[in-house]
Amino acid sequence: MAGEKKPGSWKVPLAGLGGFILGAATVLLVVTLYGRFSGRTREPRTVSPPPPVAASPAPPVPAAPPSAPAATPRPAVPPPADLAARQLLIPVQGVQPQALQDTFDDARSAGRVHDAIDILSPRNTPVLAAEGGRIVKLFTSDKGGLTIYQFDPTETYSYYYAHLERYAPGLAEGSPVTRGQVIGYVGTSGNAPPNTPHLHFAITRLTPQKNWWQGEAINPYPILRRGR
Ligand SMILES: [Zn+2]
Repeated sequence: MAGEKKPGSWKVPLAGLGGFILGAATVLLVVTLYGRFSGRTREPRTVSPPPPVAASPAPPVPAAPPSAPAATPRPAVPPPADLAARQLLIPVQGVQPQALQDTFDDARSAGRVHDAIDILSPRNTPVLAAEGGRIVKLFTSDKGGLTIYQFDPTETYSYYYAHLERYAPGLAEGSPVTRGQVIGYVGTSGNAPPNTPHLHFAITRLTPQKNWWQGEAINPYPILRRGR
């Protein structure tokens, strides 16, 4: 009947109100804590949705390795003219220049910058010497896995090949290599995602000491895009 209330019916809206207040208080607390710990002002910020995760089954073509948002863009530096003129070989068999992606400036963990490009290819695709020269170091590291450091013929630059599945048989430190020689095979050693075999390829300009672990990073992308 109109005007009549069943006993206890007022509890429902009150409970709803209580839930709302609790929820609002939680949001306020989170916002406050965020502001305190991040040191940022409480301005509205856009949160990008997480990238869609591919459902199984795995695609036949490897997906791009997970990469963090780009770091503060550095000014694009043109490649050294001598290096650009050498027509470096794309160091993975069968990969065309159009398939390359410029991930040189991508952010990596702990504030690092990629300083290299990743060339996606199925596991065990031959890795080729980008130019002639000399194998200087065969090195295994946590991040790079099985790696090769090769110097160019003038010993001005070092080429770095990482995440290899294995080395080419007989490859040894000090061995001379020719352009296009198979030096290893694409894999996922080190911190490469197990489902995304790729070659991590870097170029550095050596210092006068010519240490394989030192040098200034040079973006391989514009050099390889014009290569063969
Ligand atoms: Zn990489």
